[in-house]
Amino acid sequence: MLQNIRVVLVNTSHPGNIGGAARAMKNMGLTKLVLVDPMDFPSPEARARASGADDILDGAQVVATLEEALVGCSLVVGTSARDRRIPWPLLDPRECGRTSVEQVQVGGEVALVFGREYAGLTNEELQRCQYHVHIPSNPEFSSLNLAAAVQVLVYEVRMAWLEQEGLPSKVEKVEATAMLNTQPATVDELERYYEHLESTLVEIGFLDPEKPRHLMSRLRRLYGRSNISKLEMNILRGILTETQKAVRGETGKRSDT
Ligand code: SAH
Repeated sequence: MLQNIRVVLVNTSHPGNIGGAARAMKNMGLTKLVLVDPMDFPSPEARARASGADDILDGAQVVATLEEALVGCSLVVGTSARDRRIPWPLLDPRECGRTSVEQVQVGGEVALVFGREYAGLTNEELQRCQYHVHIPSNPEFSSLNLAAAVQVLVYEVRMAWLEQEGLPSKVEKVEATAMLNTQPATVDELERYYEHLESTLVEIGFLDPEKPRHLMSRLRRLYGRSNISKLEMNILRGILTETQKAVRGETGKRSDT
């Protein structure tokens, strides 16, 4: 599906940026690169910066005009390093990712169009795009490196695609210890812990049973917020046991530490 979202680079001067863009695309699962009148391509520098995304460079289509680059597209999004150059429907990068994925899902093809390193896209080129997208960068230093701008937009495409496909965007390892670590403590375990905690605090002289103030309810509130796992509860219980042994003068050295 992502092969129907093409990256169009207009009149790029530095071949390194073409390579960087190819790498960013391959990292995010996009394949189709279209180069409009590049200054220097093919080039060893592009290949070096692509770091293995050679297939994207080899498959890149080189055309003379933006019009040719956009043939077959039903959605064209132009990028601009400056905010609101001309009043136009705007998307932020996240919306651009979602809109692009929605478009290919209904059978359309999308072009994300990037401009020249020194001059961006011309107004005429921008007017060929249905939407403009500006990466909300620091207004006093708003222009990203071309390949970095490609990276941001294709990343958003990937996130939108993962979300759409119901695929995870983070890898969680579920191992036995990890299970124990994430398995939440139950309320009865917590109650036993509070009893243990209270008696320990009395024993070490931190809590005066005659003047308890609100200590225990405050501690309950604290622990209640922390979503304690069974494993963490065991650690805390262990600390209390050792503390009690220490104040009682028992040899409390743990054999396993
Ligand atoms: N001096 C040019 C800078 C262009 S940067 C100008 O002011 O327009 C080269 C290209 O990188 C831009 O045409 C655009 O495609 C992309 N780019 C850089 N910064 C961007 C940003 N903040 N948002 C969207 N695209 C950006």
